[in-house]
Amino acid sequence: MKGKIGLEEHFAHPATLSSSQEYVLERKWSEMKKRLLDVGDIRLKLMDQHGMEMMIVSLNSPAIQAISDVPTAIEMAKRANDLLSEHVAKRPDRFRAFGALPLQDPEAAVLEAQRCIADLGFVGALVNGFSQVGDEESVVYLDDGRYEEFWTEFAKLDRPFYLHPRDPIASRSRIYDGHPWLLGSAWAFGVETATHALRLMGSGLFDRHPDLQVIVGHHGEGLPFLIWRVDHRVATAPRGIQIKKTFQAYFHQNFYVTTSGSFRTQALVNSISEIGSDRVLFSTDYPFEELGDAAHWFDAASIAENDREKIGRLNAVRLFRLAV
Ligand code: ZN
Repeated sequence: MKGKIGLEEHFAHPATLSSSQEYVLERKWSEMKKRLLDVGDIRLKLMDQHGMEMMIVSLNSPAIQAISDVPTAIEMAKRANDLLSEHVAKRPDRFRAFGALPLQDPEAAVLEAQRCIADLGFVGALVNGFSQVGDEESVVYLDDGRYEEFWTEFAKLDRPFYLHPRDPIASRSRIYDGHPWLLGSAWAFGVETATHALRLMGSGLFDRHPDLQVIVGHHGEGLPFLIWRVDHRVATAPRGIQIKKTFQAYFHQNFYVTTSGSFRTQALVNSISEIGSDRVLFSTDYPFEELGDAAHWFDAASIAENDREKIGRLNAVRLFRLAV
């Protein structure tokens, strides 16, 4: 399929590069560094080869969210967003951007989101899960009460919020003891991010902001497969939860899922049948995945051609109001 648009596609600022090193084989790191730093010719050549018209580019993970010193996180988010803005300005026909936000300081995060969207022309924000605030052991999820005003202001911007994975911190990772292969994108990313998404739903966030739209990658981090059972069991054991709708209703009305890093037709079909083909979007997770692997799989996947057009391109054009 020609004209594909991808929206979980990463770059790095030289100062955030090291965030990605543990997720890459040592012998592949020098090539990966090149790919992460490039928002230009290397990427464009691959995009041309594999029928990808546009990438919505975001900072690598965990980057800003793992900078526990608050002023440094604020400053680094600005620098990363400025650099991405310069990259995108060179090829606005092929690249758009998600802003990185310093959630360590909710007011600064609001100002940065407003600057990214109003001044830099970014199409939304991408945040790497919880933030470490003030000290390395601190873990603050986005349902925390301190974010009430942030969400009010972010919702007013009327742009999507991509909830991207990161690993849990070591002191909270004992379930993975002795099995380091479970960390990162193999397993821990998905568990961490699906749980975070459920926390947002269970906090009543979408009762307060019914139009807010959150995107989760990797076929919704398993939520399309599991969401029915969450409702089924919470109804039996509500444990004080106070929300107006079912989890399934929030998932259907406030979430989009992407195909990033998971090129499996069975999972895609499950996502389509749970959330609907209007809420599934093509993505690759470049450069951690190969564009060619994603494109070859998606272009030939056994789905209706109407759905391929929507998932590959039209849903992104609509969601991000892209004039392409
Ligand atoms: Zn990613």
